[in-house]
Amino acid sequence: MQPTARAYLFGMVPLVDPFARAISYLRVSVTDRCDFRCTYCMSENMTFLPKADLLSLEELDRLCSSFIRLGVEKLRITGGEPLVRKGILTFFEAMSRHLGTGALKELTLTTNGSQLAKFAEPLAALGVRRINVSLDTLDPAKFARITRWGRLGQVLDGIAAAQAAGLRVKINTVALKGFNEDELFGLIDWCAAEGHDLTFIEVMPMGDDIGNALRLDQYWPLKDLRARIAERHVLTELAERTGGPARYVRLEETGQKIGFITPLTHNFCESCNRVRLTCTGELYMCLGQEDMADLRAPLRASPDDGLLEAAIRAAIARKPKGHDFDYSRQHVAGRMTRHMSHTGG
Ligand code: SAM
Ligand code: SF4
Repeated sequence: MQPTARAYLFGMVPLVDPFARAISYLRVSVTDRCDFRCTYCMSENMTFLPKADLLSLEELDRLCSSFIRLGVEKLRITGGEPLVRKGILTFFEAMSRHLGTGALKELTLTTNGSQLAKFAEPLAALGVRRINVSLDTLDPAKFARITRWGRLGQVLDGIAAAQAAGLRVKINTVALKGFNEDELFGLIDWCAAEGHDLTFIEVMPMGDDIGNALRLDQYWPLKDLRARIAERHVLTELAERTGGPARYVRLEETGQKIGFITPLTHNFCESCNRVRLTCTGELYMCLGQEDMADLRAPLRASPDDGLLEAAIRAAIARKPKGHDFDYSRQHVAGRMTRHMSHTGG
């Protein structure tokens, strides 16, 4: 059943924004902390939020449950690194009750993979079926360089544990000029051999100024990356759409599915079905705009969810048509000053 139809059935007016887009997908950042310091995501000396500012797991439960009541059917847990949040399995357990009722169709997460050896099995037992693991290189030295604090072996062990637990793994790779250009086919072949889907992401102008200057140097347009794949493979465009920025092709020789997330070279906004919640209860209606709504205040103002739902509706009524990222003039226009770990990627 469509989320809008289901919401009506339960007497709810569903979440539809001013451009007639039904909001059925919520990404939730459960922490701004991380055990890595990827160069394109965080600075080396990040100042993290005081713990007191974070929503408790119970508050996150109330918030997400309100969104689900209003028609959200897909929940992606992210961060920072979601699996470093203390007690995170309690939260997954709370969300899995909505899988049980059928209100939630998918509970998933995006992770750097470092903690998967410990968490893969319990996550699978709680109803998680697919996960995204971020991995930009298969070279241990380069991995240490790009993540600053990460170890490749630990992530590969985590991915193996996920597979052993029956989780389907999609690898997310940020395309970085001068960094992983030479690994394009190595990554594709490895994913084919391991049975993982693979999605490339264009680097986005997030974070601090020095970082943004670097980001422009590292920008590897996915149309170029795709053209390089096409030199070796026959690509068939797939009709599959997720309401997000990803477009998919199949490599005819291997049957592999490859995704491209191109927020900069293509405008995907017209079909956007998602909003993002930070660990402090800020709701971002668009990844590429500064406007946000504070949901923590209405959440804490009353034990009843009425105020909260009104605030959610008011926020969705402000969802903008699209973002303004643009690298085309050789400067980063429309760039964002917040880090990706804040809004959760
Ligand atoms: N820590 C988890 C991880 O790395 O998968 C989840 C959070 S991370 C912020 C989510 C995704 O955002 C990752 O795939 C990461 O590569 C991507 N990301 C971070 N900064 C980015 C940037 N400036 N441009 C494009 N993607 C970025
Ligand atoms: Fe951490 Fe993910 Fe950001 Fe890397 S991309 S620093 S793993 S939050």
